Amino acid sequence: MREKGELIEGMYVRVDHRALTDFVVEVLQKFGVAKENAAITSQNLVKADLRGVESHGVARLKRYTDGLKNGVVRTCPNISTIRESPVTALVDGDFGLGQVVSYKAMSLAIEKAKKNYIGMVGVQNSNHFGIAGFYGLMALEHDLIGLVLTNTRPLVAPTFSKRKMIGTNPICVAVPTTGKGFVLDMATSVAPIGKMEVARRLGKKVPIGWGIDPEGHLTDDPNNISNGALLPLGGLGEVLGGHKGYGLAAVVDILSGILTGANFGSAVGETQGPAPANVGHFFGAINPEAFMPLSEFKSRMEHFLGSLKSAEKIPGAEEICVAGEKSAYTEEVRKKIGVPLDLKTLEMLRQLSADTGVPFSLIK
Ligand code: NDP
Repeated sequence: MREKGELIEGMYVRVDHRALTDFVVEVLQKFGVAKENAAITSQNLVKADLRGVESHGVARLKRYTDGLKNGVVRTCPNISTIRESPVTALVDGDFGLGQVVSYKAMSLAIEKAKKNYIGMVGVQNSNHFGIAGFYGLMALEHDLIGLVLTNTRPLVAPTFSKRKMIGTNPICVAVPTTGKGFVLDMATSVAPIGKMEVARRLGKKVPIGWGIDPEGHLTDDPNNISNGALLPLGGLGEVLGGHKGYGLAAVVDILSGILTGANFGSAVGETQGPAPANVGHFFGAINPEAFMPLSEFKSRMEHFLGSLKSAEKIPGAEEICVAGEKSAYTEEVRKKIGVPLDLKTLEMLRQLSADTGVPFSLIK
């Protein structure tokens, strides 16, 4: 297996993940975020970089600090439960950092699932929460199945439209096994907008099929796609199932936006403003013991995943993977040899260090 991510020789530097986590914590504290909340946010961003999801790693920090600076993201939110039953809750995030709000909401879903086998928690008035997988992995720590959904600012065109009307609305389903778990963590667009940003940082084109320009034509230019729209999973039109990705994105928005009272569709805002984003999320935790003994469930999972991995390969294929396997491997490697940061991200972090006075000791 190989490490995930876009690694171009000479275009990145490896840094220690612990030093990076501490740096981000200190920067967020300088913007008024409490240490405990800064730590949750930092762990989420660094987890993305560790797992090869640089589209959602520390490269996003500047957007968060801009949001905190201009007040659309609240430094000390009063996160509260505004509706509750033994198995459900609706949480008001009070426009706090999405990671802080989501950590609390997922913890509540887990608590309910441990008591009553299932916990479903909707969230309104939140912000961008980073990688969905972070919260799915929280459920795995308790041997629960985790479900994580969020809406995002509009970036994706509905099938046959050229206008971005809906988010890249990711889904994570994390399932416990005897190993590192099955962790499906995916945008419902062909690619998330973060991958356009990674391509721009590296001066690269993107594959045809990821998005369209403002006139609705396929393009490989990440700038044209940012001005135009991303395509739903399955791509342009109906031939390869674009309508199904569009449908999945809508389902995510229904559960995380409409059902929770958060913004939805094209009304969802951005972390850095100008208006509060009012992102909505939906978290679920399910205890397998509601259906069968945990050991039996895990052994059935291992049997299932093992049979998939040992299926006959197409010519030239190295390996059949299951969701979460490459990320888990990458995390293991990067904890040892460091997290690769591209030069533009390093420059942004250096600037934040200069602006805040937090020492930049990531590179010896
Ligand atoms: P990827 O396309 O990289 O991966 C999607 C899923 O497919 C992962 O679970 C991955 O597992 C799995 N996978 C990859 N290759 C294979 C394979 N060959 N066989 C089997 N499974 C495989 O993810 P996306 O680019 O769609 O999303 C990246 C991240 O962006 C996610 O973490 C998502 O939560 C986040 N995101 C966040 C948004 C937000 O607003 N907060 C919006 C959109 C996306 P593995 O992890 O092991 O590679």
